[in-house]
Amino acid sequence: MSKSALRQLPESVDVLIVGAGAAGLMCAATAGKRGRRVLVLDHANKVGKKILMSGGGRCNFTNLYTSPENYYSQNPHFCKSALARYTQWDFIALVEKHSIPYHEKTLGQLFCDNKSKDIVDMLLTECRAAKAQIRTRCGIQSIEPLGTGFLVNTGLGKVACESLVIATGGLSIPTMGATGFGYDVARQFGLKIVPTRPALVPFTLHRHQLEQQQALPGSALPVIASCGEGSFPEQMLFTHRGLSGPAVLQISSYWREGMSVEFDLVPGWNLGEWISEKRRQNPDSYLHRVLAELWSKKLVQHFLQRQGIDSRPLKQYGEKALADIALKLQYWKLVPAGTEGYRTAEVTLGGVDTDGISSRTMECKTQSGLYFIGEVLDVTGWLGGYNFQWAWASGHAAGEVV
Ligand SMILES: Cc1cc2nc3c(=O)[nH]c(=O)nc-3n(C[C@H](O)[C@H](O)[C@H](O)COP(=O)(O)OP(=O)(O)OC[C@H]3O[C@@H](n4cnc5c(N)ncnc54)[C@H](O)[C@@H]3O)c2cc1C
Repeated sequence: MSKSALRQLPESVDVLIVGAGAAGLMCAATAGKRGRRVLVLDHANKVGKKILMSGGGRCNFTNLYTSPENYYSQNPHFCKSALARYTQWDFIALVEKHSIPYHEKTLGQLFCDNKSKDIVDMLLTECRAAKAQIRTRCGIQSIEPLGTGFLVNTGLGKVACESLVIATGGLSIPTMGATGFGYDVARQFGLKIVPTRPALVPFTLHRHQLEQQQALPGSALPVIASCGEGSFPEQMLFTHRGLSGPAVLQISSYWREGMSVEFDLVPGWNLGEWISEKRRQNPDSYLHRVLAELWSKKLVQHFLQRQGIDSRPLKQYGEKALADIALKLQYWKLVPAGTEGYRTAEVTLGGVDTDGISSRTMECKTQSGLYFIGEVLDVTGWLGGYNFQWAWASGHAAGEVV
């Protein structure tokens, strides 16, 4: 047979996984350990790029307090089964088996002590032990369903597989290789897509709002950010384009165009009572000096200016005027101009509608042998390691059955 004729013959594997990210690699290792012949294809030049850039280079790989309540989805029950069968403790045990040093940073968030690459290396070691093959720089041209399995036309030739797993993630950070490929495959097989939008993303502000906070980029403070049903106590950060920091990223998942966001700038305090008490103790103190006990000088100046408040000795304000000032200072409400979009968003809200997917196996209900795992599904976690935990859990769930 000629070389070109040989190239036409499909390579045959049990499981073909498209996407060598967090979910795809976990699925590959799990299926490979069961003796399945696994091939993982990724169009990027290297595997696990988002893992590498995650957590500021230290990968916040899970959260001690992971529970289904930490996820958004049109079907909030969908994530329960997979999360219960592969928990944060299972992933922590894997990390410990590979002697990867880690620590809890805050709120149950576990980070590598060294670098995110430790997690990628761990997954690759697991894949090697499971004899799963991985090929990068390989795109997919078409997928043809067969009586049993699929014939997949790839950049490296045709591959026949019994099970096809789509693990191509969401739309965030296109420069890292994100594509809408998974949604196209879902549509090809008649699945619905829950409208997608960038989430865990900084807010941009209108020009006049930005002009007001020109001196602030880099300043941070603890707040409670609220919008719609959501409320998160965390840090807020002023940036050159608007607002960021964990509180802002979290609340961005609740925000829709035109909605206002409220920040409690003195979380856990009643600023009115506190200033009143200060006035009793030090009636001659200027307002700005008292506020400097709470915030940096820059922030105090900004908050007073923004609300058009003159700083005077506290005794010069009436009881009611001081209470009004305290309210204005404590609660800041604004309508952001927008978000920074997929360019910087950590995740994508929405995705493949879970109505068409088995919550136990991640298999498509109407196309036997086709699976969707990880962020491509309409399951999105809070900030704090929850998104990786979903990738591990859903990858593991599929890996056990493909
Ligand atoms: C900057 C940043 C920081 C983050 N930090 C954290 C964190 O600390 N903790 C946390 O829990 N979550 C974090 N996340 C979210 C987390 O990275 C994702 O939720 C997670 O990686 C999703 O896993 P996945 O396997 O579904 O998709 P991905 O990890 O995105 O993997 C998808 C893979 O599919 C490949 N692919 C895409 N399209 C195609 C195609 N057409 N053909 C072939 N291959 C394709 C991609 O190249 C990629 O390798 C962060 C995200 C970003 C962007």
